[in-house]
Amino acid sequence: MPGEQMELGEDEQLFMLRRAWDNALHTLSGKICKVTFESYIRTAVPIALDGETATIGCPSPFAREWFKKYLNQIQSVLSGYLGTPVQINLQILPTPQDPKNDGVRTGKRNDSAHELTPRPKPFRRPNIDLSFISINERYRFDNFVIDRSNRLAHAGAMSVARNPGKEYNPLFIYGGCGLGKTHLLHAIGRAAKDKDADVQVAFVDGEMFTQHYVSAIRERKVDELRRFYRQVDFWLVDDIQFIARGEQTKEEFFHTFNALYQTGKQIVITSDCSPRELKSMDERLRSRFGSGLIADINPPELETRVAILENKCMEESWEIPSDLLYHIASAIQSNMRALEGALTKLVACSSVLNIPLTTDLAQNILKDYFIDSDATSRAKTVPIDRILQTVSEKLNVSVSNIVSEKRNKEIATARQIVMFLARELTNASLIQIGAATGGKNHTTVQRSIAKVESELPHDSSLAQTITQIRSELTHRP
Ligand code: ADP
Ligand code: MG
Repeated sequence: MPGEQMELGEDEQLFMLRRAWDNALHTLSGKICKVTFESYIRTAVPIALDGETATIGCPSPFAREWFKKYLNQIQSVLSGYLGTPVQINLQILPTPQDPKNDGVRTGKRNDSAHELTPRPKPFRRPNIDLSFISINERYRFDNFVIDRSNRLAHAGAMSVARNPGKEYNPLFIYGGCGLGKTHLLHAIGRAAKDKDADVQVAFVDGEMFTQHYVSAIRERKVDELRRFYRQVDFWLVDDIQFIARGEQTKEEFFHTFNALYQTGKQIVITSDCSPRELKSMDERLRSRFGSGLIADINPPELETRVAILENKCMEESWEIPSDLLYHIASAIQSNMRALEGALTKLVACSSVLNIPLTTDLAQNILKDYFIDSDATSRAKTVPIDRILQTVSEKLNVSVSNIVSEKRNKEIATARQIVMFLARELTNASLIQIGAATGGKNHTTVQRSIAKVESELPHDSSLAQTITQIRSELTHRP
């Protein structure tokens, strides 16, 4: 049992291993891709040294797979610091939630772990149509790639899964499309269930909450629905922006929220905008959302996007050259669903056409995503005003409409295209792009760009329009 191996913690061999491991980490940090290193190598823990065998613990089977990819390299660096050849024996660390073993990774005890005696609890589904989203096993904490764009949301999510109803209640996560909100929500549900199988997790989205409520009214079972919700330990609400605008549904949401909140149950909500911008919700509810932790998620950096693609390759057992992954990750920046989708499309085409996966193939198949880099660097001097002007002429939407608050489809589309091209063809930050398009905030800009990215592969007329405008902007002096 690893707990017993920890007893070795005081002896000389383990001391030597730990010292060598620290040095090895230092050396390896410059040699392995930063994101992989931070997520999967630095999180490993030296457990024991027994002659020529060094036992190292990984936090999850998934992390172990990553570690194995670098095993030879790590082994040789570690051997160097130990002054003797060693073989690494990899173990999975006990989860921090396991009360028997807690403390192995951190050396600290987690007191809340002692409260975890399973408590069988009656959990009867009400007699109305109440289907919940089931947990998607693909979305876990161990395959969520962390960088500064999502660090707070990730930390908040881990914290509520461990300490429900205590530190951050509610946890409100918001950000653009395809940035991992649903992923984190599932990961919370999974981790909570792993910690205590009896925990009751109700996982809904805004639309589903509305449906449940409407059918409860129709069947005169609203009380039953309320009683049911009182037994829930985790209430995970995805995409709250889709909750119906009807007063009654919102009122019911408010009551459910309060009932759970007052009894210390954990509430997690995701949305595509901040509580302040959730105009369809009452002020009193929006201010409650702010009483816990509000965490935004932004598009991740290039290395992180590559790591997300690498995760996908690992899970699907795809062998893809890393320059190709970089190529794709450079082209798609704002929507990780589109990023994964592009890779899947590429793999499917290569297999159907039976041709090797190369950068040329990618360029061909994903042409709408790729930009002519020469033209782009020439264009970096294009002022946003010129983009506005050109989009306005091509789409026949006035510039004043594009920079207005109006939301009808043509105007919104023109605005999204301006933002998308400004991101691509200028050095302007999201904040500057927002300022140039009528004082929009950076989340709105990010959301608009993500929307264009996700529609490009399916909407050939949009792709054509963008290609035309782009070539006009980059080829005219
Ligand atoms: P959202 O709910 O914010 O629209 P999702 O959670 O559905 O986004 O994420 C879209 C896809 O991108 C999912 O397949 C998810 O696993 C992946 N993804 C997004 N962010 C990350 C991340 N940081 N690490 C790993 N996968 C990610
Ligand atoms: Mg989602």
